[in-house]
Amino acid sequence: MSKRIWLNGKLVPPEQATVNVYDHGLLYGDGVFEGIRAYNGRVFKLRTHLRRLYESAVAIRLEIPYTIDELAEAVRETIAANDRQDGYIRLCVTRGVGTLGLNPFTCEAPNVFIIVDSIKLYPAELYEQGMEIVTASTVRNHPMALSPRIKSMNYLNNILAKIEALDAGVMEAVMLNHLGYVAECTGDNIFIVRKRDGQPVVYSPPLHAGVLEGITMRAVEGLARDAGLCLERVDLTRYDLYTADEMFLTGTAAEVIPVTKVDGRVIGDGKPGKVTLSLFDAFHKLVQNNAPED
Ligand code: PMP
Repeated sequence: MSKRIWLNGKLVPPEQATVNVYDHGLLYGDGVFEGIRAYNGRVFKLRTHLRRLYESAVAIRLEIPYTIDELAEAVRETIAANDRQDGYIRLCVTRGVGTLGLNPFTCEAPNVFIIVDSIKLYPAELYEQGMEIVTASTVRNHPMALSPRIKSMNYLNNILAKIEALDAGVMEAVMLNHLGYVAECTGDNIFIVRKRDGQPVVYSPPLHAGVLEGITMRAVEGLARDAGLCLERVDLTRYDLYTADEMFLTGTAAEVIPVTKVDGRVIGDGKPGKVTLSLFDAFHKLVQNNAPED
């Protein structure tokens, strides 16, 4: 079956799925998006992704010309049209075609498109061995400038950090916020595990550190709670990363990936940790067997 893209209510071949060069999404990165995954024919947390999309749109004063139900249906229709059971779904809403000035209110109507494809963020062996990351010198967007809570089409901040990672010969970078605390990676949330009184505690940065409220992050937190693990959201420094027992990243594209080295410091014994591996397994069981579309 040939590929189909959903564009403004129609399923079209990729070569017809084009946007105008006057679209402010292209001219200014003015738009919002979601990255979603389907497993075994079910879309994981579809409604949660759509709610986040609408909240991002509210934050940038963009009115999405569809209801949540309509977009949920459009996502399912696109998956079916591409004859897929598993895949990565990219849903974008651009500001639309306007004039060359910044004024978003000159734009006619948003363009909405849905792509269903596959994605491979990191090589498969890194999921087994663990990944090496570095700290980027590029600071995560200040929440008072462009809140990282908004999943906007402007990813330059993240791209600059990604370039630093690639220049350093690794696949991912951790970004600090304007205060020097750990925020998140370029496309993933970050967690560390550290023992307190002999018990492992799962730590992650608070939302106010300037992070996207990851849907994978929330799902993994739920699994950690179910496993009786203690969770804490606290400001983390690079020292906390360097001295952690375990570290892992979460994201829709990344899923759950262990980290075993940061800025040349070996984490724990240099292998993916026990808690990380148990959450990795629990996450894959959740999405494979019982992926709720809530
Ligand atoms: N942070 C950033 C900057 C991201 O781009 C992503 C990927 N959407 C995440 C975190 C993880 O979020 P989610 O689990 O919802 O994919």
